Amino acid sequence: MKMIVTGGCGFIGSAVVRQAIEQGHEVVNIDSLTYAANPANLASVADKAEYHFVEADIRDRQAMDTVFADYRPDGIMHLAAESHVDRSIDGPSAFIETNVIGTYTLLEAARTYWNSLDTLHQAAFRFHHVSTDEVFGSLGLEGAFTEKTPYDPRSPYSSSKAASDHLVRAWYSTYGLPMVLTNCSNNYGPFQFPEKLIPVVILSALYQRPIPVYGRGENVRDWIHVEDHARGLLMVLQQGHVGETYNLGASAEKQNIEMVHAICSVLDKRHPEGAPHDKLINYVEDRPGHDFRYAIDSSKIHSQLGWAPSRSFEEGLEQTVDWYLANEDWWRPLLERSGVNKRLGLGQ
Ligand code: NAD
Repeated sequence: MKMIVTGGCGFIGSAVVRQAIEQGHEVVNIDSLTYAANPANLASVADKAEYHFVEADIRDRQAMDTVFADYRPDGIMHLAAESHVDRSIDGPSAFIETNVIGTYTLLEAARTYWNSLDTLHQAAFRFHHVSTDEVFGSLGLEGAFTEKTPYDPRSPYSSSKAASDHLVRAWYSTYGLPMVLTNCSNNYGPFQFPEKLIPVVILSALYQRPIPVYGRGENVRDWIHVEDHARGLLMVLQQGHVGETYNLGASAEKQNIEMVHAICSVLDKRHPEGAPHDKLINYVEDRPGHDFRYAIDSSKIHSQLGWAPSRSFEEGLEQTVDWYLANEDWWRPLLERSGVNKRLGLGQ
């Protein structure tokens, strides 16, 4: 396929681009290079003839029209977004701008291009919107989100993603633009920007700084390795049924505090200096409106497309800790970026 990927310099987008190139696809990466972007994530594919980079903002309609006209893709996978809940609490505007207006702009550019195609190419075209399980809201101790769970987003981030999901479905129902949509649980793995829980814990422990844990650390997240997510996304783009939504998750629920202890015990083995690392755990004020629990039922993508995670949580976590230990050159420059190592999301 010749595919556009938006947000390809981010954490998940770069995993998608690397895998897509490996699978023999041609990729046009559109990214505006925000604070969360890192072109180094794509160093392994940057020189390949099948890889193209366009620095542009998805809110820029003219730029989006030009990319569609220049590259004439078979489909688009849309990942570009503001993605950090804490930042959405302090500054929701960028989230509305990129996640809502940006998705709308991209849909309109895609629709104009799609209308120009012949019937065969129209039928084959896909707009794949990459979304989160956070649109479903917060669970109690029981149950899991399915594709039929009603939306109940509670943070500026999740509500902006919910809005974009609704827009994508509306462009399918109203204009016939062939879309597929995925809602995925929390991702972890290499190349994750050091403002998200797992790299924050690893790097705080390495620097022997307090490891911040929100509230009592009892909130539950369902974790999936980013490479498993990226593989599922490429399957949905190519084999997903038009108009359908697929949940993606690896059934690895952990309380945040369990996750922190798990990382500390891997570090105790791999990097014994400073062990036991869990002595650094520091309970801090909770995030306002902190969703209690997410859990995702991904039986539909298992049974319909044959996707399954390829590694256990324990293996994935060990590989991730090892990757951060081996790649200081990757993460060290990111520590200088605005907001990193600061407490964000108290809404003050
Ligand atoms: P990220 O923050 O690491 O990367 C986002 C990328 O989008 C960056 O490279 C950034 O420069 C780019 N971008 C932002 N605004 C842009 C704009 N206006 N125009 C062009 N490019 C822009 O995000 P991520 O964690 O890789 O998440 C990717 C997608 O997956 C998002 O849509 C997110 O909502 C979704 N998602 C993330 C998770 C997760 O656990 N990280 C889980 C489920 C779904």
